[in-house]
Amino acid sequence: MEIENRYLGSMIGLAVGDALGAPVEFTKKDSFEKIEHYRRGGKFNVSIGEYTDDTAMALCLAQSLVDKNGIDQKDQLSKYLKWFEEGYMSANGRSIGCGKVTLRALYRYMSKDCSECGNSRLSKGAGNGSLMRIAPVALFYADDVKVAMEMATKSSLTTHGLAICSDASMYMTGLIIGAIEGKSKDELLSVGYAKKLFELIKNYTFHQEVVALSKGDYKNKSRDAIEAKGYVISTLESALWAFYNTSTFDEGLIFVVNLGDDADTVGAVYGQLAGAYYGVDSIAKKYKDGLMRRDLIEKLALKLGRGICE
Ligand code: MG
Ligand code: MG
Repeated sequence: MEIENRYLGSMIGLAVGDALGAPVEFTKKDSFEKIEHYRRGGKFNVSIGEYTDDTAMALCLAQSLVDKNGIDQKDQLSKYLKWFEEGYMSANGRSIGCGKVTLRALYRYMSKDCSECGNSRLSKGAGNGSLMRIAPVALFYADDVKVAMEMATKSSLTTHGLAICSDASMYMTGLIIGAIEGKSKDELLSVGYAKKLFELIKNYTFHQEVVALSKGDYKNKSRDAIEAKGYVISTLESALWAFYNTSTFDEGLIFVVNLGDDADTVGAVYGQLAGAYYGVDSIAKKYKDGLMRRDLIEKLALKLGRGICE
């Protein structure tokens, strides 16, 4: 498969998952009519194909990587703030869905001009807000998975101070790069591949819950046992569970967004990985055509390839 197909797949996949799940975010599993196409409504009263904070912040991060030719934490934060205040990179000018941990970090950035504004002592800080936007880091640094993982941590720390959040982001980055390299699904989700990724970061012990997740117990869990909560491990587990248990992009997408709860974000996390794995050509036309600002997302996805996609 052409590399371009995977880059576009990862970023369009992220946005499609976000926009499809958004109308049922904060809704309990099986309490809503099954999602199979874009819908209006939900807590933020989204329009058809309107994405939320997940995609907007990923686009801010992508633009920052392109503008600064790499990770620049303050530039990332300034763009996240611009999104929050002015709707920069949003679907239609409004910033919707900002999580509590991210919001605190943005306030801290405004008052302290910090570059790592995540709070490392926040007891409820293990949210999925840095994981949901991580794809651009994987795509930009895809030629060196170790560097990519280190940069994923830097990006995570701008808003999320807990190691569990940056470690989940590192693991996800390794998975996306493995997908770009054309690894099989079984290999990607194997204990051996995870171990290889963890060992790249010398003298560092990954958070035990990330290590436990990588062992793959989720593979045999029933749908009832999967909870798409905002807790970073629940989010990653939901996304990997849907990816493992289905065989096309669209099938997994429908699986994951219909878990409800943090539906847009589990959709976005699933979409980043599954899009890189199956490629953009595998995503249903109705999802791509109905997505707001598709052109902008595609343009940035290709720029993240730094020449390899042209
Ligand atoms: Mg959202
Ligand atoms: Mg969400």
